Amino acid sequence: MARIDLNEIRHSYKPSPKSDDDFALKRVHTTWEDGGAYALLGPSGCGKTTMLNIISGLLKPSHGQILYDGVDVSAMQPEERNIAQVFQFPVLYDTMTVYDNLAFPLRNRNVPASEVDARVRRIAETLELTNDLGKRAAGLSADAKQKISLGRGLVRSDVAAILFDEPLTVIDPHLKWELRRKLKEIHKEFGLTMIYVTHDQVEAMTFADKIVVMYEGEIVQTGTPEELFERPEHVFVGYFIGSPGMGFLECTLEGDIAHVNGAAIPLEPGYGVRASSLGSRFKLGIRPMYLGVHSSREACGELPGFEARVVGVEDQGFCRIVTVQFGGQEIKARINDGHPVAEGLCWLTFPPEKTKLYFNERLVG
Ligand code: ADP
Ligand code: MG
Repeated sequence: MARIDLNEIRHSYKPSPKSDDDFALKRVHTTWEDGGAYALLGPSGCGKTTMLNIISGLLKPSHGQILYDGVDVSAMQPEERNIAQVFQFPVLYDTMTVYDNLAFPLRNRNVPASEVDARVRRIAETLELTNDLGKRAAGLSADAKQKISLGRGLVRSDVAAILFDEPLTVIDPHLKWELRRKLKEIHKEFGLTMIYVTHDQVEAMTFADKIVVMYEGEIVQTGTPEELFERPEHVFVGYFIGSPGMGFLECTLEGDIAHVNGAAIPLEPGYGVRASSLGSRFKLGIRPMYLGVHSSREACGELPGFEARVVGVEDQGFCRIVTVQFGGQEIKARINDGHPVAEGLCWLTFPPEKTKLYFNERLVG
């Protein structure tokens, strides 16, 4: 196992890149701690596979170094880096049995037969492949084949890290949940460094202790699920995490007060000082569950209430998602059952500790 440092990595697939837009990875400078369970989360095309292939050595970056435990491995081949990688689609030997497929990565490294047998049986049991061990891989379902691929990634205990690139894409939803839980168990038991790529926030949250969010070739935030939810450092994180995501309103700033089309919304003290030299156009961000929607000004309590209009109510069973028109902009609130809300006039509250300010898509903080 290893700590992995990516040192000022940039990568372009173009022969002579000119602007930042020509780079699949614009600038990545980060550390993956030894033994960490990470999810690498981001939309399709943001550079997740590129990053994984640079870590494993399948791809050589245009710029920068990769260090394993402080040793520069940038020039090393994937085999020398001692990494296991599981891909989106099964990679195995169809004509071999399940047993031989699982044993292959160990035999390849001259692991003694008795140890091979113990590891193969242990992994087969975890992945519920014990009854298939004697079968040829060719005859098995897509699910079973992908489980074998996972097993081939997990079977060695001496790897620097295991990289998973959207490995459960071809697996049916119920089994997916089950396998994710198993991967988490395996992580706890063996303490391996694991990086799990996904574009699905639920998948990321159930697997990982730390989530690394990527957007357009950059890491925009690394944090626990709670940190990403409570304090998005980039507008994209606010919008991508949560359902629905964070709502944003264009605003200007005067001291610690945000102005949204005439409404003066108090923010947490300190924003004014931090934002003073940045510029004049900001975005105010608030999670739908923190935006208060009330039927009268009196109902707003201690906080100032701002007149707005409910234009849509969507019942989701345990809660309602309300769309509000406010100062010519739209924003969503999530209302728990029991709290009355109807279309028409309403008053909004913005709890200052839950209301964030963004400049140039980044949190002012
Ligand atoms: P993700 O895995 O997040 O979907 P990728 O790392 O596959 O993203 O791709 C990042 C960007 O690099 C995309 O714009 C994609 O089109 C481009 N790209 C990926 N692989 C290649 C390649 N082999 N040649 C040229 N462009 C590529
Ligand atoms: Mg990919």
